[in-house]
Amino acid sequence: MMQYSERAGVGMTSQRTRDRMVGRLADQGITNIQLLDVMRNTPRHLFIEEALAHRAYEDAALPIGKNQTISQPYVVALMTQLLLANGPIDSVLEVGTGCGYQTAILAQLVKRVCTVERILSLQESAEQRLRDLEFRNIEYAHGDGYQGWRARAPFDAIIITAAPRAIPEMLIDQLALGGKMVLPVGDEKDQNLQVLTRTEGGYEVEPLMPIRFVPLQPGVLA
Ligand code: SAH
Repeated sequence: MMQYSERAGVGMTSQRTRDRMVGRLADQGITNIQLLDVMRNTPRHLFIEEALAHRAYEDAALPIGKNQTISQPYVVALMTQLLLANGPIDSVLEVGTGCGYQTAILAQLVKRVCTVERILSLQESAEQRLRDLEFRNIEYAHGDGYQGWRARAPFDAIIITAAPRAIPEMLIDQLALGGKMVLPVGDEKDQNLQVLTRTEGGYEVEPLMPIRFVPLQPGVLA
């Protein structure tokens, strides 16, 4: 990744604020050193609107427009750590680009990232932002993540950053053998973070903890 041009005059976006965020992540059990380094060096404030930029390093989800949210830093870190639990991977499919922050973290840890977003305006602005930041290993699609990205499959890992009611079986076909899918599953009232591993015979699921994501919705929006 190349140099970032930081927005001027936003004191809360300093390196020290980011260092504190990473200290909290380590206290919360994030142990992957490479991941912590990447989160230390990625300017989260550039992924949210300027009026909220001073809150960029709080451990909170924030609105990104169109009724969607940027995930809280701890959840981004945890899901990424789970994806990389068995060592480095070459390819990942992300469903739910949103503002592109999780995409940016993945792109610094995985060779090739394919990311799909159903809301056109979010897709376009995330793509523009990530191109401005000079990421070159990301492919973008405006589409329905329930369909995955068949032409690029199989993936070493899949991350879903919105919650389906049930495991989207169609995506399992696009996962390499032994590959992991990290996703929230459930409705608004009862959601669980799960890690699914593709096996010879099908898949295994490990439920981890209660969590709260916006719903995964079918179809695309212009
Ligand atoms: N990782 C993102 C999370 C954004 S919220 C971030 O930190 O910014 C979840 C995103 O998933 C929203 O942008 C929403 O529009 C998108 N989404 C929901 N259903 C989808 C689907 N079927 N296919 C692709 N994207 C979807």
